[in-house]
Amino acid sequence: MLTHLECTRCGEHYPADRPQTVCPKDAGVLYARYDLAAIKRTFPVAGAPFLARSGREKWGSTMWRYYEVLPAADPVSLGEGFTPMLASREYPNVFIKDEGLNPTGSFKARGLSACVTMARHFGLKKLAIPSAGNAAGALAAYAAAAGLEAHIFMPKDVPAANRIECDYYGAHVTLVDGLISDCAKKVAKLKNSDAWEKEKWFDVSTTKEPYRVEGKKTMGYEVAEQLGWRMPQGIIYPTGGGVGLLGMWKAFEEMEALGWIGPERPRMITVQSSGCAPIVKAWDEGKSSSEMWANAATLAAGLRVPKPYGDYLILDILKKSKGTAVAATDEEILEATRHWAKAEGIFAAPEGAACLAAYRKLRASGFFQPEDTVVLFNTGSGLKYLDVLNVSVARAPSPAKPAQSTKPPARQIGGIIGPY
Ligand SMILES: [Zn+2]
Repeated sequence: MLTHLECTRCGEHYPADRPQTVCPKDAGVLYARYDLAAIKRTFPVAGAPFLARSGREKWGSTMWRYYEVLPAADPVSLGEGFTPMLASREYPNVFIKDEGLNPTGSFKARGLSACVTMARHFGLKKLAIPSAGNAAGALAAYAAAAGLEAHIFMPKDVPAANRIECDYYGAHVTLVDGLISDCAKKVAKLKNSDAWEKEKWFDVSTTKEPYRVEGKKTMGYEVAEQLGWRMPQGIIYPTGGGVGLLGMWKAFEEMEALGWIGPERPRMITVQSSGCAPIVKAWDEGKSSSEMWANAATLAAGLRVPKPYGDYLILDILKKSKGTAVAATDEEILEATRHWAKAEGIFAAPEGAACLAAYRKLRASGFFQPEDTVVLFNTGSGLKYLDVLNVSVARAPSPAKPAQSTKPPARQIGGIIGPY
């Protein structure tokens, strides 16, 4: 049912039967478009009939349960998606979508499952990514499952978990003496070589190919399905590259076109670290795109994205949904990580725990009321961050002191880390 790709800037259409990157005219992000009217005709009612569809049993416990609204290719799956929607033990009407239970321990599994599926479908062979985070591990795992080569370009001081998992998955890891931007330059240099076309290389950087968004959008379908096809009042999402935010909004538009939901939408909330908050700054200044954040530094590695490529789309969604953008300090993020583990039994990635810090602020300001249903996205497992969190243990607050009095490490693992 995938019909074409559409530029999110100029609206130009491009064929979906070959690998595509960004719009050749204006470098806009390309979105996959489907014949939703035809899909709608096959679904008389959302909900139970949807679950009874043939083929659902095969992919039922993964994100590929929504195969009608995903590209029709043979999925490279490790069981990603359909993660638990846990009711908070602390706040009634708050739910925690625990993405840490995905393969490779993060939400990156969804985007890379879809992206690697299409790469294999198109006969690509060597997938390159400049990354120092969970996307690298996810690419390495899915490439291994697909029998493709993963070429990871990482700063040499990356978190241990990401480097070690890539090594074990058999990825080609190049450790770069520099920042993520230097890693991106290595990939750019490769692109200009003769081998790029000949050996079927492809750059799978965030939003520079159309299918990672497709994988991430399944989070939007799951939010709706797991809440009984009702929209929550708010979704708080830790925003680095923002692919999940774009994907969920796209999913809501598709679901409305399919007649599964009405025009109602959750207020979409971006949370970033105050050590790297380009979207928060742009939002506060009423701008439609962000500026490069200088000297980005936060222990929440996934939020170290100085300028998300899809910033114009993120800011537009915040506006349309009557949402907002909130910054949390590393102290607040670290305290929230510890608090979530104790209060909820969820050992979250620091990026995910930032949602709790944001929720507290939005309750305090009256933006959310206690009766509002709000979904907080824990984007990964704390187990991927042991070296970061272990350093913090030594500085953890003793019971006598308030959490705010401690200073977490301002480690700049890998320097500026992109939306990877
Ligand atoms: Zn365009």
